[in-house]
Amino acid sequence: MSEQYNEESMPCPVCRETIKVGALKCRFCNSNLKTAAVDQEAETEHILYSGHPAIIYSAWQWLVVICTLGIAFIYYWMESISVTYQITTQRIKIEHGVLSKLMESVELFTIEHFDVYKPLGMRLAGYSSIRLRSSDASSPVISIYGIDDLENLADQLRECSLRERSRRKITSIIQT
Ligand SMILES: [Zn+2]
Repeated sequence: MSEQYNEESMPCPVCRETIKVGALKCRFCNSNLKTAAVDQEAETEHILYSGHPAIIYSAWQWLVVICTLGIAFIYYWMESISVTYQITTQRIKIEHGVLSKLMESVELFTIEHFDVYKPLGMRLAGYSSIRLRSSDASSPVISIYGIDDLENLADQLRECSLRERSRRKITSIIQT
């Protein structure tokens, strides 16, 4: 096809043949172009959160900081910078350690449970934590804490996990 693209035509995102703009179905490969666009969007990885947990994420830590006249703050600060979260629409990566790094990585579609915990100390400081249980045996439980609005992030992760599962055709339908 050596047809020129003009305002009325565009390449099919699936087979690259020239089709009409706004077409719902490609006349060459018969792809449903509406779902093709949605699939393409789902395949793109977006960053949801990237960074360290908060230095102080529990009221009890404030108590310790006060009792140690601030010295504990340095310890909590070092603890915070030694953890790096990289949370995307497809996977969660957690790096531990400043000099020697230990990497935890889990694909969202393997996560089976998202549990939000709000222990008293965290609740008083305005934080919560989520525990993720994965079917991947190498990292069965992952904990995330010290992130603002973590509950909202947990909801987003739940959605992304479901979408990844359906994209990979992993369903929890019980076979009869
Ligand atoms: Zn096509």
